[in-house]
Amino acid sequence: MAETNTRPPLYIRIHAADNVAIVANDGGLKAGATFADGLVLVDNVPQGHKVALADLAEGDAIVRYNVVIGYAQKALPRGSWVHERVMRMPTAPELDGLPIATVKPPALPPLEGYTFEGYRNADGSVGSRNILAITQTVQCVAGVTEFAVQRIKAELLPKFPNVDDVVALEHSYGCGVAIDAPDAIVPIRTLRNISLNPNFGGEVMVVSLGCEKLQPERLLPPGTIPIADQRGENTAADAALDVVCLQDDAHVGFMSMIDSVMRQAEVHLARLNARRRETVPASELVVGVQCGGSDAFSGVTANPAVGFATDLLVRAGATVMFSETTEVRDGIDQLTSRASSPEVAEAMIREMAWYDAYLQKGRVDRSANTTPGNKKGGLSNIVEKAMGSIVKSGSAPISGVLSPGEKVRQKGLIYAATPASDFICGTLQLAAGINLHIFTTGRGTPYGLAEVPVIKVATRSDLARRWHDLMDVNAGRIADGDASIEDVGWELFRLMLDVASGKKKTWAEHWKLHNALVLFNPAPVT
Ligand code: CA
Repeated sequence: MAETNTRPPLYIRIHAADNVAIVANDGGLKAGATFADGLVLVDNVPQGHKVALADLAEGDAIVRYNVVIGYAQKALPRGSWVHERVMRMPTAPELDGLPIATVKPPALPPLEGYTFEGYRNADGSVGSRNILAITQTVQCVAGVTEFAVQRIKAELLPKFPNVDDVVALEHSYGCGVAIDAPDAIVPIRTLRNISLNPNFGGEVMVVSLGCEKLQPERLLPPGTIPIADQRGENTAADAALDVVCLQDDAHVGFMSMIDSVMRQAEVHLARLNARRRETVPASELVVGVQCGGSDAFSGVTANPAVGFATDLLVRAGATVMFSETTEVRDGIDQLTSRASSPEVAEAMIREMAWYDAYLQKGRVDRSANTTPGNKKGGLSNIVEKAMGSIVKSGSAPISGVLSPGEKVRQKGLIYAATPASDFICGTLQLAAGINLHIFTTGRGTPYGLAEVPVIKVATRSDLARRWHDLMDVNAGRIADGDASIEDVGWELFRLMLDVASGKKKTWAEHWKLHNALVLFNPAPVT
């Protein structure tokens, strides 16, 4: 700490056209601090907050990332602290007349020869972990399932050393909901597709109550679960769905239910235990990236490094998805222009329009996104936050769009439309079929998932030092001048291969820090 505090005053300007920059120094800087170019602070400015690089008159555009992030509400002389209370937010870009697939990014050279050790599934997907997941049709069965899972972990799991874990897919859906409402498809397909996540090896088992609205055959209709024939090819034949129904007449007493769950679990555990990791190309990675607890460094250090790694993944032929609709809404023109085809751009606009209407129904707009912590970290509004968030997508063409809860079926860079809520975004990316999750944070969050490894990237060295046993990568070294964006991007890429191979565990896995599955249910409850 002492070393960094004595560093000379330093600001970080993202683009030559920007008229504000952020203060890089730990602890911020006092009025009077003088930068190398002669700029003198006229206010105290906290770390990550903006300083005016030029005299701004009332009404002048405030530019960061070469984008107007706001307008000055009063005169702001050069050296002033530029924060959310002296800025007016711009309106969101119109969804009409956007540039459609206008940018043809030069094809990135293929990246060959990178592999990891994964579990090959019957449907061709590859798991990074070997987990028994117990699907539930309804929240009513959560307590019984959890009781059974504890017994399975204590009594059965030690007999199957190749199985990493047993996870109950607990959720709040299944009954008391308007299940025939059009938007109910979102939570239903989310649960269905999570059950089919590559880390569960196709071993789907379901615990049902019996009287719930979401009946097992509605959740997982015949033909949904791929099974391999003897040549290892996917036949999509109808495997009988394995359901333990608690209201079944055969169950007399609680222990009868627990015995049923454990008996069925043992069948699946035996099959999972027989699986072995094999060497597969890096193109089998399916990576979801998101951020949470962001600060002004997110868009300077961690997210650009993730963007560089995103490009590496695309070059390696992998699938990588970015999400968080309210955090890309203000940069929609950058995304539609990067779409690989007009259809992809139109799909992106459709998702934005749907979300605008969804927010409007609740009488808010995308500005409801930012948190007190974001603002304390220097992010004045959603426009500034979005510009820092969007860089996670790197520079490749966007080749596909998923609606919330849909499963990915192609390689390349995908926009998976989700709310920005960390838990909901993570849940929807699990449904999309990720086998690895990258999470950047500036304020700090101990986020983790039981289903898929989460690699956490700190935006600042101060956070990485204090949370040394929670953060997996320190991108703050970029702001310190100790590493480049490329260095950290490559470090992250190589760490992904090691974590996917099971050679390394993330801190969230080490401590078993797991957030709940949180479904996105835009439909009414009853
Ligand atoms: Ca988020």
